Amino acid sequence: MGDAATEVTRDRHRTACQKIAADRGWDIIDEYVDQSISATDKSKKRPAYDRMVADYKAGLIDAILCWDLDRLTRQPRELEDWVDAAKDRGLKLVTANGEADLTTDGGRMFARVKAAVAAGEVERKAARQSLAQAQRARQGRAPKGTRPLGYTTDGDVVEHEAAAVRKIYELFAVPDGVTIAALAAGLSGKTGDHIPKGLPVLPSHTRTLMIERNQRREAEGLKLKEVPDDKPWTSSTVLGILRNPRYAGYSTYTPKTLPPKDPDDPNGSKRRSWRASILRDEQNEPVMGLWEPVVPEQLWWAVQARLDEPVRITNKLGNVQRKHLGSGLFMCGICDGPVRSHSTRYRCAGHVMRSREQIDDWVLRIIRERLSRPDLRDVMPDQDDPRIAEIDEQIAQHKGKVKRAESDYDAEIIEGFDLKRIRDRENARIDALEAERRKLTATVGLSPVLDAKDPVRAFEDADLAIKRRVIDFFVEVRLYPHPRGRKTFDPETVKVTPKTRR
Ligand SMILES: [Zn+2]
Repeated sequence: MGDAATEVTRDRHRTACQKIAADRGWDIIDEYVDQSISATDKSKKRPAYDRMVADYKAGLIDAILCWDLDRLTRQPRELEDWVDAAKDRGLKLVTANGEADLTTDGGRMFARVKAAVAAGEVERKAARQSLAQAQRARQGRAPKGTRPLGYTTDGDVVEHEAAAVRKIYELFAVPDGVTIAALAAGLSGKTGDHIPKGLPVLPSHTRTLMIERNQRREAEGLKLKEVPDDKPWTSSTVLGILRNPRYAGYSTYTPKTLPPKDPDDPNGSKRRSWRASILRDEQNEPVMGLWEPVVPEQLWWAVQARLDEPVRITNKLGNVQRKHLGSGLFMCGICDGPVRSHSTRYRCAGHVMRSREQIDDWVLRIIRERLSRPDLRDVMPDQDDPRIAEIDEQIAQHKGKVKRAESDYDAEIIEGFDLKRIRDRENARIDALEAERRKLTATVGLSPVLDAKDPVRAFEDADLAIKRRVIDFFVEVRLYPHPRGRKTFDPETVKVTPKTRR
């Protein structure tokens, strides 16, 4: 605080203590003042208090004078230590407001009651704050506290940051696309083959917040705090952005009293998942915030789906990115299996071996041609198809049936062949639903290209993962063996078939 009123209060407390010391004939050896640090918060460091404890333990102190026990500590545990010290080791502990004298039985009793009440007040205050926060969330108001990247504390959009958030979501929604580490590197201004293009470079959010705090301090005429050098963005910060439901406009609330585990993920981390923090109404519908979403709901869920993919978890350290345009995407004309990169070629062992450069060049020509046609908008499926939410719901139900069957099997209610039958049946339905979902969400992450003013140009500038996605959206590519001895490229040996949609 450090304002004038506090100074006056502190002077008054000091004078009262000095008077008591004089009355009792005590020498004052030191003053211990923790300015504006709450005695209630266990996590806050109180350096002067700690120094006082150390001095007492070193035998430098026979008596402690404080204005009020609240100023000494509101932690009942700490107070008990002082009561013990007063009783067993003869420490004289007196409050200047005359209420407690720990040298007497009555004083000690009073102190204990007071500390217990103070501790209860702290809990009630926390509960009140928690209620107020739940209320805010239900009303869809922006949660209090540190502002997330892209929003002010009041929930207004900070456009240049929101653009970065949007870009992060778009890049990450692409299956097989960029890694979180690559996004962090891109935001930090690093470049390289695996780092996506077109990401705005931003100072770390922590630094931005520190600078803003200093601006407020400057406006209030307070001393500025030192802002350390900028540090690169970390993967965990980017992950936090990708997981935050606020960007999709969902109101969130995490009660402190609930068990911290995510019920959907009993083996997962102890932190409650962001998804579980989405506030839902009586119909289990998400409560929408009053703020403007930064990303469409569908894109947010697409990102969650990719974050949930087991391959990402098991493959965390490996590079999940494909390095070439057609590996795993183009097919072998003989067996319909995916071709793989093999030095400068695409190969399906025993079937085809083709020059990558020639094939890529041909496919890219066709895609550029497709993108330059005026009917591009017509191929875009409806982004807000309600069917998607329905599919998600149905997938969850089928997964629930498998889980139930598994626990029934564990409890020896059903036999192994029943479990297998149920699993096969449910998984087939899940596969079908997921295929339908993929079709409906095929353009997720492609809007930077398909919505661009100049889609051909946007395609040229796009990352490899997005290019692959665009190709996959429009065409199937099959490679056939090239006749021996022919030097020139024969387009007849590469079949590019347009995909039909819906
Ligand atoms: Zn083959």
